[in-house]
Amino acid sequence: MAVVKANGYGHGAGMTARVAAAEGAAFLGVATVSEGWALRQAGIRLPILMLGPVHVDELEQALRADLTLLVGDCRTARAIAWEMRRLDRPTPAKVHIEIDTGMRRHGATPDEVLALARAIEDEPSLSLDGVATHFAVADEPASDFTDQQAARFERTLRELDRHGIRPRVVHAANSAATLNFPRHHNDMVRLGIAMYGLPPAGNAPLPAGFRPVMTVVSKVARVMSLAPGDTVSYGRTYRARRPEQAALIPIGYADGYRRGWSSRAWMAIGNQAAPVRGRVCMDQTVIGLPEEIVVHPGDNVVVAGGTDTAAPSLQELAGLIDTIAYEVAVGFTSRIPRDYRRAGQTTAIEDATGLHEIARSTITQTSTDAIE
Ligand SMILES: *Cc1c(COP(=O)(O)O)cnc(C)c1O
Repeated sequence: MAVVKANGYGHGAGMTARVAAAEGAAFLGVATVSEGWALRQAGIRLPILMLGPVHVDELEQALRADLTLLVGDCRTARAIAWEMRRLDRPTPAKVHIEIDTGMRRHGATPDEVLALARAIEDEPSLSLDGVATHFAVADEPASDFTDQQAARFERTLRELDRHGIRPRVVHAANSAATLNFPRHHNDMVRLGIAMYGLPPAGNAPLPAGFRPVMTVVSKVARVMSLAPGDTVSYGRTYRARRPEQAALIPIGYADGYRRGWSSRAWMAIGNQAAPVRGRVCMDQTVIGLPEEIVVHPGDNVVVAGGTDTAAPSLQELAGLIDTIAYEVAVGFTSRIPRDYRRAGQTTAIEDATGLHEIARSTITQTSTDAIE
């Protein structure tokens, strides 16, 4: 499963879903009905599993979008069945049972699962397609809690099996479990963060061959000279001590370039590190320029991510503000156009007006190139 919730972890759900489908993903994962609906509107035909709980008010839209629903209690199962009859849908709704083996977020407890499975099997408008659980600390390979969760999961599956209930697809592993616990892969893994080339935990690098998909780039808007004593931006938190060249970069916290990076982060220009000077504003940020290089308005600046640049990785930026790469990635807002590249060539752009393909032929072809 390619997990494309939260706008494909900030990469754009539509294009991520299309590439994942072309590369052989069997399922897509979303968190909300509207995310699933948007993928259907974009013409995505793969099975889509809603990974979060569904509210009864959203059932009609979820079923019309043919989303597979994750169910953890009989009440929800009955509500889906009722809605299916009301809508007079031609084929049964596929559901997956979620078993709570220790995450304590949602899902049926192991002793509730058999009754739930029977309730689903008794409903002609429902079809039990899968069973799932979710790990709490798979990013800590030394913890034995993942094995404990897996043991509870397997015990519950054996109980279902004894009663003749054998769902088609059993799944548990997120990225961390996919990497750290191959013994718990089951029939399908649910890959989110690692698919985007980002590590599930800041301290554990990904295996060789993974590259970050996202590079955040901008262009120099203005070059200026700072005199000793000049202060930069709101609050005057940066004061030049000697003559210095600086550049204005048109990215700010409204783009997801976080205010917490004020005077802490850096960007890359001419492949050299250029420190953020003073406060990040809503739409702009000032960087100090390395002495040796000549910079002009319009020059490229690598703000974050990518490979082989002096720019910080998303996980380094996350570390500066005590969070994780997930939060940094999903934080880049739709104000930044997504420029999809294959072998350095732009193949599509997604901006406020929608997703536009540049070279039709290449994007759906199977290829080992990642999008950049
Ligand atoms: C988001 C999510 C995933 C993907 O997690 P990653 O750590 O990004 O791989 C898998 N399963 C469920 C239930 C999720 O909500």
